[in-house]
Amino acid sequence: MIRCPACGFESPDTAQWCDFCKEPFRKAPQPKPGIPPEFLALDTGGKITSTPPWLRYAAWSVLAAWLIAILALMGAYLAKQRSQQQDQPFGRSTQSR
Ligand SMILES: [Zn+2]
Repeated sequence: MIRCPACGFESPDTAQWCDFCKEPFRKAPQPKPGIPPEFLALDTGGKITSTPPWLRYAAWSVLAAWLIAILALMGAYLAKQRSQQQDQPFGRSTQSR
């Protein structure tokens, strides 16, 4: 039996965490063969350094700016085409029936 270090509840030896309070018993990360050390943090639930949140927001804002710019360009292009069609009263659209 393993006595929980947090609440004192006794769990079976095969238990990975306390049956009562879910306190994990395996405290120290043990290096495993085949797993690179930079991925051991995944197994132990450790904090992994990733992109800072401000960089994420900056990337999203840049992407949104690109989308808005592309939409504006497309709108301007379509409006220009439509105005050109209206400027030609004897265009192909009115002659062909
Ligand atoms: Zn416990």
